[in-house]
Amino acid sequence: MSTVNLEDLSLQEEGFVFDMEEGEDDQVDFRWCLVGRFLSNRSIHVNSMKVAMAEAWRPVKGVKIKEATTGLFLFQFSHELDMEVVLQAGPWAFDNHMLIVERFQIVVQIENILLNHVDFWVQVHNLPTGLMAEKVGTKLANYIGVFVEYDKNNNNSFWRQYMRIRVRVDVRQPLKKETKVKNRGGEWCTVNFKYENLGVFCFVCGVLGHAESKCEIRFGMANDDGIREWFNELRAEPRRRYGRPTLRLGAILLRVGADLLQFWRVGAAGMSYIRKSQILDPGSAVGDEN
Ligand SMILES: [Zn+2]
Repeated sequence: MSTVNLEDLSLQEEGFVFDMEEGEDDQVDFRWCLVGRFLSNRSIHVNSMKVAMAEAWRPVKGVKIKEATTGLFLFQFSHELDMEVVLQAGPWAFDNHMLIVERFQIVVQIENILLNHVDFWVQVHNLPTGLMAEKVGTKLANYIGVFVEYDKNNNNSFWRQYMRIRVRVDVRQPLKKETKVKNRGGEWCTVNFKYENLGVFCFVCGVLGHAESKCEIRFGMANDDGIREWFNELRAEPRRRYGRPTLRLGAILLRVGADLLQFWRVGAAGMSYIRKSQILDPGSAVGDEN
C-alpha cells in the first residue's frame, strides 16, 4: 500500500495535496495484466512460485507478480508480446498445480473475474483418413469444450499422425476422453483425445485439480472396485513449447556441448537419449500425483 507522510499533508483551498513517498507507489498498470489462480486445494508457496513462473516464462521485458487477495495473483507484464506468449503457450503449472489465467478487465472487480476455464492444445488421435479438416476440428473442439483455434501448421503436415486443436475447457467438468466418428466407409471409429501440458487430474471422476487420493466421489463410495474410467493416457507426450523466447547463447552452447558428450558416450545407440532429452524439456515437465 502507498504510505502518506502526514507532516507534509497540507489543507489548501482547492483540496488536499498528498506527498507520496518515493518508491512506495504500488499502482498497477493493467494494460498487460493477467489475473490467475492455481487449481489446487493446497496453499501456494508464493515466493517459490514467483521464481518458478519467471524462469518458465522468461519474459523479455519482465513480469511483476503480486498476490491480490489470498490465492489470487496479478501477473503484470511490461510488454504485450510477453503476455501473449504466456497466453498462447499455456497451460502452465507450478508444483503440479495448474494455473488458470484470464486477461484482466478493468470494468470487472478482480474477485468477480471467473477463473474456471483453461485453453488446452488437444491432440486428436486415430482420426480416420480424410477427416483432417478445420470443419471436423471445430466440431470435435466444441464437443470437448469450446473451439479456439485449428493448428494449420501441425494439421497440414503430411507426417503428422494427429490433429491438433486449441480448446477452452471448463475445469469443473470431467475431461472428455474420446468420441466416435464415421469413416468414409460408413463405419464408426473411436478417436482419442490427448491434452498437452495437463496438470493433476482424477482417475475416478476425471476432474482437474485433485488426484484420486483426495477425490470426494471415491470417499463417498461404499466399495471402491478399483475400476477407473480415466487414465494417464490422456496426457500428450511433451512437445517443445513454441513461441517461447529462444535460449541465450550460453545456454545453447552448454546444451550442444552436453549433447555431443552424450553422443560420444552412447554412440549409435543414442536414439533413446534423444527421446529422453525431449521429455526433459523444462517448460513442459508436469509430474503426476496419481
Ligand atoms: Zn475425483
